[in-house]
Amino acid sequence: MSRVFNFSAGPAALPAEVLEQLRSEMLDWHGQGMSVMEMSHRGKAFVGIAQQAESDLRELLAIPANYKVLFLQGGATAQFAAIPYNLTKADSVADYVNTGAWSKKAIGEAKRYCKANVAADAAEGNYSSIPARATWKLTPGAAYVHYTPNETIGGVEFHSIPDVGDVPLVADMSSTILSRPIDVGRFGVIYAGAQKNIGPAGLVVVIVREDLLGRARPDTPTVFDWKAMAADGSMLNTPATYSWYVAGVVFQWLKRQGGLAAMEKLNRAKAEKLYSAIDGSGFYRNPVQRECRSWMNVPFVLPNADLDKPFLEGAKAAGLVSLEGHRSVGGMRASIYNAMPMAGVDALVEYMKEFQRRHG
Ligand SMILES: *Cc1c(COP(=O)(O)O)cnc(C)c1O
Repeated sequence: MSRVFNFSAGPAALPAEVLEQLRSEMLDWHGQGMSVMEMSHRGKAFVGIAQQAESDLRELLAIPANYKVLFLQGGATAQFAAIPYNLTKADSVADYVNTGAWSKKAIGEAKRYCKANVAADAAEGNYSSIPARATWKLTPGAAYVHYTPNETIGGVEFHSIPDVGDVPLVADMSSTILSRPIDVGRFGVIYAGAQKNIGPAGLVVVIVREDLLGRARPDTPTVFDWKAMAADGSMLNTPATYSWYVAGVVFQWLKRQGGLAAMEKLNRAKAEKLYSAIDGSGFYRNPVQRECRSWMNVPFVLPNADLDKPFLEGAKAAGLVSLEGHRSVGGMRASIYNAMPMAGVDALVEYMKEFQRRHG
């Protein structure tokens, strides 16, 4: 058996320890004589697993008591529609900040349901920076302000939470949740697809402030209705039981690592090491403004695109995989989520130096 260092943006690497636990519990979970996949979601065993996962997530993120935590299906993309369904009427205005590909998708979907106003747009700078808060043209009385704290494709990240006053702040944290502590109380809604920093694809975690429940349109599909889902503990229909369980095993692993303060320290160090190797090389280049570089997704280009293929082939031979940039931008991208150990970043930096020696 040999494991590679997997730099995929998502579905992304999981900690080996987590996978080993899943394997050891696969056939017989805690003496139940069956896999978690085979259990009734209404049974005592699974309800316990689900509750433990929620309470561990609450502890990790210090989620205040007036927030509901939902474990839903359909990924973050389903929430692109669920958010306007739950928070707007057809004539409501919702403000969106466009910092890249995922913001754009969220805006495109919202436009189908309400008036989605682009309050700030990083398009002019080719999405290499974040528009200063003072330049945002927010709508008085907007239903909410939506932004994408980390743009997974562009590698652009907010390193502080924007102040939007009393308007509910809605954040797509798919690729940054659990990378560091955050002040959940500053948000109306946080949502995150699981396949970056939580667990298997398909699951989406929604953290919603209670006073925002009960505003859904009458025609909201029931599985999208946060209030209905909250009332049934996310079990209004059969939830993604195995994915929920895996998420819980990841939360336990995070607690053993020392929680999010420890992850922050490690993630900062990993990102600093990789960016300084890029910046100091005179060969590799990252296009993002320093103050908003992502800790999780690090895109970089080589001096000429003809080198991409040999770079990727050599990387693969060295056990470093999924480094190709998103098909829309090209170049390289190293995703270094929580599950990527420092040893993986060290191996990548070493390989980059070696490649530069041969091709620079
Ligand atoms: C991956 C990702 C999504 C999409 O998630 P799906 O599970 O495919 O719906 C949305 N937003 C961001 C920021 C992402 O990184």
